[in-house]
Amino acid sequence: AKKQGRNQFHFHTDNQERELERTYQIELEIHEALERNEFSLVYQPLINLRTNKIVGVESLLRWDNRLLGRISPAEFIPILEETGLIIPVGKWILQSVSIQMKSWQEQGLFLQRVSVNVSPIQFQDPYFVADLKKILHKAEVDPSYLELEITEGTLLDIDDSAKKLHDLQDLGVKVSIDDFGTGYSSLSYLKQLPIDTLKIDKSFIDDLDRDGKIIVNTIISMGKNLQFRVIAEGIENSDQFKYLKQQQCHEGQGYFFSRPVESDKIEELYYSLQ
Ligand code: C2E
Ligand code: CA
Ligand code: CA
Ligand code: CA
Repeated sequence: AKKQGRNQFHFHTDNQERELERTYQIELEIHEALERNEFSLVYQPLINLRTNKIVGVESLLRWDNRLLGRISPAEFIPILEETGLIIPVGKWILQSVSIQMKSWQEQGLFLQRVSVNVSPIQFQDPYFVADLKKILHKAEVDPSYLELEITEGTLLDIDDSAKKLHDLQDLGVKVSIDDFGTGYSSLSYLKQLPIDTLKIDKSFIDDLDRDGKIIVNTIISMGKNLQFRVIAEGIENSDQFKYLKQQQCHEGQGYFFSRPVESDKIEELYYSLQ
């Protein structure tokens, strides 16, 4: 038994070594990823649950590395954050999305909102709002069509984040709270801040067929009473869709409507649903 225990110990060490090795490789490669043009963006439709039309999209980052292949954001975003690379990459995302927004606008493809995920590290950067302002100005896009998705954790430093949110409001950019319900903020606290939208976390939508209805109903009705736009994320089947529509949740997003797709596919989807 002792020997077995020792073997198991070795087995774990090998696994951990392999994990470290991969993290190390990712770190080496991710430094060059921007220069090598390995990042791209995909877009997932946001659907108005009353009209079934595409009213917006969320941009999502993708990384295809020359050696490691496609790596998921869940794996590489934390590494971008730890290395501080999320700042230049985040700027690249905002620039690319702005150029895309301008192009859609020129094609007459009307989206009420294009939303972009913003990491807490990026949001805390003292130049964040000033840089964003420059990017939007250069691309000639109306800031009111851009929405930034931040998580409840980003708001932990209350004074600093309240000031930033007001600067963003002055700039005309909208803000949504992503993964809502998984953090610690209360709706009454959020109501004191200039926030436009709540995105109900996928885990609650997953639980709709079990005991998730009460939580989802509460978020929808309180959110609506406090005049937030409410979006349900991770809708995967028609039961979830029908239920959220019946509860008059404003918008939905999920594989049931569409997976995240390239920008030209958004154009096809948009015109096919007109
Ligand atoms: P998120 O912001 O909560 O994004 C939603 C994630 O759920 C996306 O995964 C999306 O592809 C996935 N999703 C959407 N609908 C469904 C569905 O019906 N079922 C299931 N199972 N999944 C669905 P993705 O693209 O892998 O991104 C994961 C996370 O990585 C994001 O979660 C976000 O936290 C982060 N991320 C992605 N792109 C960016 C970015 O540009 N900047 C930053 N800072 N973070 C990003
Ligand atoms: Ca998001
Ligand atoms: Ca989310
Ligand atoms: Ca999430």
